[in-house]
Amino acid sequence: MSQLLDRLQQVRSWFAHSIGEAFREALAIAEPAGTSPAWSALCQRAGVELCSDADRAQIRAGQRPTRGAPLMEFQGVVTAIVQRARYELASLRNHMNDTADKLYGQISRAVEEAEADTLKAYRAAVLPKRAGGMFANATAHAATQSYATAPSSTALTCKSCGAPQLQAGAFECKYCGNRMV
Ligand SMILES: [Zn+2]
Repeated sequence: MSQLLDRLQQVRSWFAHSIGEAFREALAIAEPAGTSPAWSALCQRAGVELCSDADRAQIRAGQRPTRGAPLMEFQGVVTAIVQRARYELASLRNHMNDTADKLYGQISRAVEEAEADTLKAYRAAVLPKRAGGMFANATAHAATQSYATAPSSTALTCKSCGAPQLQAGAFECKYCGNRMV
C-alpha cells in the first residue's frame, strides 16, 4: 500500500521536475526562437527534432517571440514527458486505496492538462502581449485575462520543481503539490 504511494510520489516528482526543467531551459534562451546546448540535449533526449534555421527565421517573422526556444520544440518536449508519465501511471491505478486514488487523480489531472497548461504559460512568457492575445482568442478554452496581464519576459515558477504558475494567485503547485512561493 505505502509502496504504491511511494511510487506515485516518485512519478509525480519526476513529472514535475521534468516539466520544470523544460520550462526553465526553453525560457533561458535569450535569442528569440534560439537554442542552447542544454535545450538541444533535452530535445534529443525527448526525441524532438530541432527546428531548422529556415524554420527559426519564419517563427521570428510570424510569431515574433521575444526570447526562448521555438514553441513547437517546447510543445514536443512536453508531449514526450506527458507520454512517459501516462505510461508510468498506467500500472499504478488502484481502486482499493482512497489515499492512493486521490493522489493518482491529482497527478493524472496535471498530466492530462499539462500540454495545454504549459504551452499557455510558455506563450505568455515568450510572445509579445498582442500576439499572446491573438493566440488566446484562437484557443477555445484559454483564459484571455492571463495573457493580457502576464509579463512578456518573466514567468512565475514553482521554487520546488520549476514548473510554471498556471493561475495568478494559485500558490499550490499543480505539478509537485508544494507551495510555489
Ligand atoms: Zn512545483
